[in-house]
Amino acid sequence: MSENSSIRNVIIIGSGPAGLTSAIYTARANLEPLLIEGEPSSTSDQPGGQLMLTTEVENFPGWPDGIMGPELMSRFREQALRFGTDIETAKVSRVDLSASPFGVWVGDPTTPEPTYRAKAVIVSTGAQSLMLGLPEESRLLGHGLSTCATCDGFFFRDHDIAVVGGGDSAAEEALFLTKFARTVTLVHRRDELRASKIMRDRVMANEKIRFAWNSTVSAIHGDTTVEGMTLTDTITGEQRRLDVTGVFVAIGHRPNTDLFVGQLDLEESGYLITHSGSLTNVDGVFACGDVQDHVYRQAITAAGSGCMAAIDAERWLEANGH
Ligand code: NAP
Repeated sequence: MSENSSIRNVIIIGSGPAGLTSAIYTARANLEPLLIEGEPSSTSDQPGGQLMLTTEVENFPGWPDGIMGPELMSRFREQALRFGTDIETAKVSRVDLSASPFGVWVGDPTTPEPTYRAKAVIVSTGAQSLMLGLPEESRLLGHGLSTCATCDGFFFRDHDIAVVGGGDSAAEEALFLTKFARTVTLVHRRDELRASKIMRDRVMANEKIRFAWNSTVSAIHGDTTVEGMTLTDTITGEQRRLDVTGVFVAIGHRPNTDLFVGQLDLEESGYLITHSGSLTNVDGVFACGDVQDHVYRQAITAAGSGCMAAIDAERWLEANGH
């Protein structure tokens, strides 16, 4: 076992609002947590989670004038460090959750000994919004292009905007956005919505919602902010321009749970299953934030569940005589 593989009380995997809040709480409980924050591998994959891809955050309590997403996350991080959290900038490559102390590898996953062992593990690896795969998405995300109507709808008062997708998320986002926007065009690649009947009925009945059926997005225009998009008709191949100043992509999310397949119970959709707060099926392993929440997906709910996981871990360690 290498020198740094002495047994930690708690290792937190992931550094969004959930992971950093659990770090603040476990650090203040003198558990000397190690948080493995990930490392940048692309503009859409970096420590700090989804708020790193956001511009202004206006709904995080305590910031009445709003705060930029990356600045908010750097303040979470600063607070976690202040109470003694060790933060490692690396990606976890493998875990062994068969029994406490659990094994956590960074770097080469084939080495027999884990890089670290921990009595308890908190999983806060988050989720990613699926994107369309257009090169301009990374440039325009947070500048008219969004994946969260609850977060950004307010900025589109009286705008003509579009929502891409045909499931319940797209329907829900479109309906929510009608509170602000002048018109919302739902762009869907087929001619019927996948969304549940009640949601379909609601969007069909809403006079602010228009439909671009059988349409895929070929381009989103604008240098510094969204100015429109090019749609391609899936039947005729014809292209047309849609003049919108906001685009919400709502084609689903993917939880970051690859590391845990076969070790933690997952829903069919890939989300971690938690019960009684943050407990997973493995004693001593806790989960919080978007990796186990496909309903609320907000920074504040993730932070709240990070606090729950920290308290659950602390109580578990105490009850188990650690
Ligand atoms: P979803 O049900 O998987 O729907 C994704 C939608 O995006 C589909 O309409 C799909 O088109 C479209 N899509 C996927 N990839 C695309 C691409 N590359 N380009 C263009 N369109 C693409 O995802 P979701 O709407 O996020 O819902 C996930 C789950 O959460 C579902 O079980 C849903 O019922 C649930 N949910 C429930 C509620 C609620 O009850 N209020 C709200 C939100 C979500 P196709 O239809 O052609 O496949």
